[in-house]
Amino acid sequence: MIPVNLSELPAYMRDENEAWLLLERLRWDGRPVCPHCGTIDEKHYFIASRSGERRTKAGNVTYRRLWKCREKNCRKNFSVLIGTVFEDSRVPVSKWLFALYLFAAAKNAISAKELERQLGVSYPTAWFMLHRLRAAAGRDPLAPLMSGTVVVDETFIGGKPKNKHQQGRNKGPTGPAARAAARASGVSLHGGRGGGNAHMQPVVALIDRETGEVRTKVVTDVNSDTLRATIAEQVDMPETVLYTDGAKAYRPIGRDMAGHAWVDHGSAEYVRGEVTTNQCESFFAQFKRSLDGTYHAVSRKHLHRYADEFAMRWNTSDLKDAQRVQAIVDMTIGKRLTYRPLTQGC
Ligand SMILES: [Zn+2]
Repeated sequence: MIPVNLSELPAYMRDENEAWLLLERLRWDGRPVCPHCGTIDEKHYFIASRSGERRTKAGNVTYRRLWKCREKNCRKNFSVLIGTVFEDSRVPVSKWLFALYLFAAAKNAISAKELERQLGVSYPTAWFMLHRLRAAAGRDPLAPLMSGTVVVDETFIGGKPKNKHQQGRNKGPTGPAARAAARASGVSLHGGRGGGNAHMQPVVALIDRETGEVRTKVVTDVNSDTLRATIAEQVDMPETVLYTDGAKAYRPIGRDMAGHAWVDHGSAEYVRGEVTTNQCESFFAQFKRSLDGTYHAVSRKHLHRYADEFAMRWNTSDLKDAQRVQAIVDMTIGKRLTYRPLTQGC
């Protein structure tokens, strides 16, 4: 049993030890998996502490629950944190679980400021925890390629507010392809009189027309080569029909696909039979509303993490909160995020 929502959580973890047990249930469901060799065995040895209390090298009490692998070529120790985004974190597991439930339940995301308040942790800790959860929400690199019909569109996300006043002074957009694509996709560049998007970051969304699954990619520009590389990374091109707006950058890409149909936003055409990019527009609208409402300012360097977070919210919107918590825990596996790459522009 796992808590169905945040209000039930305290009853399931009255202390830190129960928090560890709960995380083990969420991750393993009674069948611990050795993160070193991948062996799944309900009979891995649990290493009880002799004194009933476990201490770190520094002498502090720790609630870390240690297991030993039964596989004879491995025999290594592990805990439920190893190989997940929680590894090497000094934040108590009970706080991680609170953060996880808050993160999963927040329709429009949760800010580090709010997490700081709710958990009683420092702002940098709250900020880092959220980035780790976003890293978990990131796409599985082994996910199969999309096929069938895939809708692709791009938008531009603004820079930091302190930069916004400068946008009016820009000479103009970064390039003709960016300008054409932005115009064709009906995206407002709201960059002041100059209409410049030098401070704006293009984001591409790819949506599987049948399942509704969205994947995103923050890109440097929206020229044909960049869009092609983005599509090729996610889509089985010869097996897929592409739906886009009328941006010319998509035309040569479409020739390498099973088909390509587009609506001409320039002539106010948004739906033609089956063809539309409305799903992408809804995704972008929701993404931008949440960015404006919750985060106010998102640096370019971290934009891809927010895009991943919103893709996860979109892709799990049919799930109940507890199911989303479970989905995120499943996604935490195999993804680690340490402070260094996070602050060095990963
Ligand atoms: Zn093992």
